[in-house]
Amino acid sequence: MSRQTRNNGISRRQLLAGMGATAAVGAAAGAAALPASQLSSWSLDTDVLIAGSGAAGVSAAIEARQAGARVMLIESLSRLGGSSAMSGGVVYAGGGTALQKALQVRDSVDAMIDFLSRAGARHLPMDKIQLYCEQSAQHFDWLVAQGVPYTNKFTAAKGLPMGDESLYFSGTEQSWPARELAQPAPRGHVPGVPGMNGGRRLMQALTSTAQDLGVQLRTGVAARRLVVESDGRIAGMQIDVQGQLLSIRARRGIVLACGGFIHNREMLQRYAPELFDCSVPWGNAGDLGDGINMGIAVGAEALRMHQGFAIAPVYPPENVLSGIVVNSAGQRFISEESYHGVLGDAIAYHQQGRAWLITDQRSAFSGRQDNFLAVATGNSIGDVAVQLQLPKGALQHTVAYYNRYAANGTDPLFRKSGNYLRPLQGPPYTAWDLSVAKAFFPAHTFGGLNTTVDGAVLNSFNQAIPGLYAAGRNTAGLPAAPYIASGLSVGDCTFFGRRAGLAAAGVVV
Ligand SMILES: Cc1cc2nc3c(=O)[nH]c(=O)nc-3n(C[C@H](O)[C@H](O)[C@H](O)COP(=O)(O)OP(=O)(O)OC[C@H]3O[C@@H](n4cnc5c(N)ncnc54)[C@H](O)[C@@H]3O)c2cc1C
Repeated sequence: MSRQTRNNGISRRQLLAGMGATAAVGAAAGAAALPASQLSSWSLDTDVLIAGSGAAGVSAAIEARQAGARVMLIESLSRLGGSSAMSGGVVYAGGGTALQKALQVRDSVDAMIDFLSRAGARHLPMDKIQLYCEQSAQHFDWLVAQGVPYTNKFTAAKGLPMGDESLYFSGTEQSWPARELAQPAPRGHVPGVPGMNGGRRLMQALTSTAQDLGVQLRTGVAARRLVVESDGRIAGMQIDVQGQLLSIRARRGIVLACGGFIHNREMLQRYAPELFDCSVPWGNAGDLGDGINMGIAVGAEALRMHQGFAIAPVYPPENVLSGIVVNSAGQRFISEESYHGVLGDAIAYHQQGRAWLITDQRSAFSGRQDNFLAVATGNSIGDVAVQLQLPKGALQHTVAYYNRYAANGTDPLFRKSGNYLRPLQGPPYTAWDLSVAKAFFPAHTFGGLNTTVDGAVLNSFNQAIPGLYAAGRNTAGLPAAPYIASGLSVGDCTFFGRRAGLAAAGVVV
């Protein structure tokens, strides 16, 4: 990211040059909007102003700039990239991408739509899902064209590839019930770099493109509140530069791309208590909900604010998936091979945040285990049940029932596949605490502003707020709870970020 560090900070002199008086009204992000009539003049002027330098903001900036607009992008922290740069960089893409074709993977737009619309939450934004799937292959080409590197390598292993493989099953496609609802295909597209560096590499490529195109990237500049004309049009934004409040006029539009709100404890408590209880806020320190609150302050509607990605990262290693996961009634409630977002959702939202993974000798974690504590161990399932204080006999019944069918290769309750299905037998038996508060249980938010497929922010009467656009985790987009596949968030950010940038620049797509 050496290109980015060169661009650190906005100089106050630069900003103040040529500016007239500006209203220095104290404001926190999310405070009431500022009427334009209270400004005697603007400090700065641009065509498109974007707040937030993650995948959504930078993708918007690239498209707006290519459409001929003058574009300024501000970032409150000292580094560009947001949660996007911390991420695995997985983009969920399919329907026959160039990489899928190169690896002779069969996929179709319809299969992808089936998976996204049937395998997880109900009542999803079908307009967004449809468009995303239809244009997914082209969107992947766009990422390649921006310089994101992919290798022609596939891995069948579960979990984010730690080698340089670029294609894998990133979600719950092969688990029941998903595999019966939609034809499974690997759709997790990861930059082909070893380790957990995909997000950094993806953001490096996008940010370089934006810089080369002449987008003005400014760090250490926080969006504070929107400036509204008397007719309701969003005319600009009040910003905070080292404690000084200035105003920027955006002649064509503003894109809010400030990420989610996992680091705002007060918002979590109010909107998403299940995520409040999870042990690890999974995101960049700037994920404070600023963009969402700025939108709400001008009448925008916020959707699905309680939803998020609650993660129970039990695999790898895959051998633990032949253990069973039980709730405080000592009963199974899910196929253990489910994607870790589906498992995490079930625990956080449907089991009061408590569950245990029960393993035998073969399915136990071997070596050091940092994510989950072993809280009970014994030579029989009964020993473990007593230590966990489960209802009398419940766990023993669960294991006996599971073992009886697993011995014949079936799982009548959750149809766990043969890869991980075998009777639990062979002490020591161990219970690993999967509770949201005690385990390593990361979470981030999905709720955000209601937008059209072009990023126009809608009020609660379903009317677009003129001049205002949003993308990424500032919006309620493709990701919903349960989160069924890695890559849906960065995929949504880049795809709908691009559309928001175009729309803000005045391009009708
Ligand atoms: C470790 C990790 C791994 C992940 N892996 C994946 C993955 O592989 N695939 C996937 O799809 N998802 C993944 N996610 C989730 C994904 O990274 C995020 O949901 C997504 O990157 C959000 O992008 P965004 O552009 O909306 O926000 P961000 O990338 O968070 O960018 C928002 C930016 O706005 C800035 N900002 C906030 N407030 C203001 C303000 N007032 N003024 C100016 N700037 C402001 C923030 O500082 C931040 O830099 C992962 C998350 C984590 C933490």
